[in-house]
Amino acid sequence: MDIFDKMARKISLGTSVISKKTDEFIATTEIKINISKLEGEIEDEIFSLGELVLNHYNNNNNVSLSSVQGRCKEIQRKYQELNSMQKRYCLYKGVLSCSHCNEEMEQDSRFCPNCGNRL
Ligand SMILES: [Zn+2]
Repeated sequence: MDIFDKMARKISLGTSVISKKTDEFIATTEIKINISKLEGEIEDEIFSLGELVLNHYNNNNNVSLSSVQGRCKEIQRKYQELNSMQKRYCLYKGVLSCSHCNEEMEQDSRFCPNCGNRL
């Protein structure tokens, strides 16, 4: 292999490392965007659940348990989706996240630096 072949090989290896990093960056950015979107949706759901209960209360009506339960189930489902998104995000980034406060830290951490939770 002459010097030019070696150089060309090194350059192409370097480019593939860069494009892998770029793919990872795009993937983590996309997950992060979806996480914030879902967090916003959960906030809205909780707000409208509160409104539903309050409106019934203000109109002296009984709060329909089934409508409240339906909304709660939906919120719970979104929380589970959020949890699995956060796990996927940490997997991509090669970090750990605290199950208690979601703080990100190095994979070999034993305690959360934010809340002290044992990992
Ligand atoms: Zn924590």
